[in-house]
Amino acid sequence: MNVIVIGGGTAGMVSSILLARRGCSVTLLERGERLGRKLSASGNGQGNVTNLGMGAEHYFSDDKEKVARALSRFGAEDTVRFLEEMGGIFLPDARGRVYPASRQASAVTDLLRAELSRLGVEVRLNARVSALSHDGDFHALCGGERVSAERAILAAGGKAAPNFGTDGSAFALAEGFGHTVVPCAPVLVQLRCDPSRVRGLKGIRVDAVLCVERKGRCIFRVRGDVLFTESGVSGDAVFRASSYAEAGDRLLLDFLPDVEEGRLRAALERNPGAEKLLCIVNNGLGRALRKQAADDAGLLRLIKAFPLEVKGTLGFPYAQATRGGIPLGETDENLQSLKRRGLFFAGEMLNVDGECGGYNLQWAFTSAHIAAEGALS
Ligand SMILES: Cc1cc2nc3c(=O)[nH]c(=O)nc-3n(C[C@H](O)[C@H](O)[C@H](O)COP(=O)(O)OP(=O)(O)OC[C@H]3O[C@@H](n4cnc5c(N)ncnc54)[C@H](O)[C@@H]3O)c2cc1C
Repeated sequence: MNVIVIGGGTAGMVSSILLARRGCSVTLLERGERLGRKLSASGNGQGNVTNLGMGAEHYFSDDKEKVARALSRFGAEDTVRFLEEMGGIFLPDARGRVYPASRQASAVTDLLRAELSRLGVEVRLNARVSALSHDGDFHALCGGERVSAERAILAAGGKAAPNFGTDGSAFALAEGFGHTVVPCAPVLVQLRCDPSRVRGLKGIRVDAVLCVERKGRCIFRVRGDVLFTESGVSGDAVFRASSYAEAGDRLLLDFLPDVEEGRLRAALERNPGAEKLLCIVNNGLGRALRKQAADDAGLLRLIKAFPLEVKGTLGFPYAQATRGGIPLGETDENLQSLKRRGLFFAGEMLNVDGECGGYNLQWAFTSAHIAAEGALS
């Protein structure tokens, strides 16, 4: 059997490998100059490929049960086994996030690229597919050339981080077969906030508990790094919260989650001077908080529940993942299109996004495995 795989990211490379191992003739079409550019940048360049705390509860989708069934077919341990079979060593950190032992994301791309080459997969770079049609076979048009095959896998990513080749234009290839696209939004991204609140805080990084408050109710709570930026907040906790927060929500930051209010109040009373926050919070943060609070009670409120109104996100150019895409409801259990038999989907192109921590790459591995199995059946 011959198969066209469109998109040379994680999902496209992995499905090509699995198909080629089973004897298929695979042509992998990638619009950029290199394969796996986003994978090489993942996890701050360290490559957080999956998470041992895997489960559908870490995902957003129109069909979370299908995500759960998919993960049970190919989960975190399978990803580690798949990568280690090619020779690497992958280790979890204390939070279950799995990285290559070398902590180099680009080495994961190199591992996949070497396997593609060993298997003789035909890789075409600078090959942007502008049209995909079907007349018994699939025909992908790239440049002036037509590439044809019995089956096609669309693994062209979402809209996040368009500098890696994913501007969302590839959804049109699926729309041509009658698919719809759940409207896309950037996730795992910096949040924009009221600028007057963050003025003077730029560059300060704190360990805080962050609560996303909607209509007076905390809908998501997380502890981690918060980094103040020019226009809002970034950092690990904010990325995780960005999967839940919307414009109009309020973030409440507790800068001293391990200290209860009584102890903090007593410390503030003991020091009536201008330096009263020394050794309590970061000095820069302390200076800004003192300017915003009228008295000790106000200071205490700001330290334990610093409010930031969410104005939006920094957008797709700064996002790590895409909410939205091709609905799972328009695919069967093998991620085969319900509109056109023989067409499969894998990766971020589908309406599945995961929390920060290895869940999005795991979806790329899982869906690539399932689409490849489906294409073979
Ligand atoms: C900076 C950054 C850090 C990240 N860190 C992590 C992390 O640590 N852990 C984690 O789990 N997730 C992380 N993610 C998310 C994760 O990398 C993605 O969800 C995952 O790579 C998606 O894989 P994919 O194969 O579906 O799509 P992509 O990797 O986006 O690949 C799609 C490919 O398709 C190509 N393409 C698009 N249109 C066409 C076309 N018409 N013709 C031909 N080719 C086309 C693109 O050029 C691209 O190479 C990160 C994302 C970013 C941006």
